[in-house]
Amino acid sequence: MNNTSDIASGGCHCGAIRYQVIGEPDFVGCCHCKDCRGSTGAPITIYPTFPEDKVQFTKGKRQKYESSPGAFRTFCSICGTSISYESPWNGKMIIGFHISTLDRPELFPPDKHVFDIDRIQWFDTADHLPRYATLPGNGDAIRHGPIDK
Ligand SMILES: [Zn+2]
Ligand SMILES: [Zn+2]
Repeated sequence: MNNTSDIASGGCHCGAIRYQVIGEPDFVGCCHCKDCRGSTGAPITIYPTFPEDKVQFTKGKRQKYESSPGAFRTFCSICGTSISYESPWNGKMIIGFHISTLDRPELFPPDKHVFDIDRIQWFDTADHLPRYATLPGNGDAIRHGPIDK
């Protein structure tokens, strides 16, 4: 994505739910937290996050599950695809779309890892992005790259 007016699209596996996002995401991180892992079944989640007003759901109705107070995980009730993480952030709702629900995930490379404290011990990735124990606002990166073995 190069332009603030660029539109990207995505949806669930069966196609019942479709969405569009406009412009650059506020955040693209790899998240290792237990809530993300538990709600997707995956060892890690990667999600470009947009303010709610830059998102339009163009088809279908997503189901919502409140994974912690005020924070929702959404999914397709037909195919079960985990679609988004939605929560208040700095006074507005933000929506993070799981990377593989986007039609062109290559447009949104992550720039950090968050919640390394919750990382599955045997799981790591080979990139040299900064790893934060929790979120960047809570301290410096604890390393840049995979754990030494
Ligand atoms: Zn579906
Ligand atoms: Zn998470």
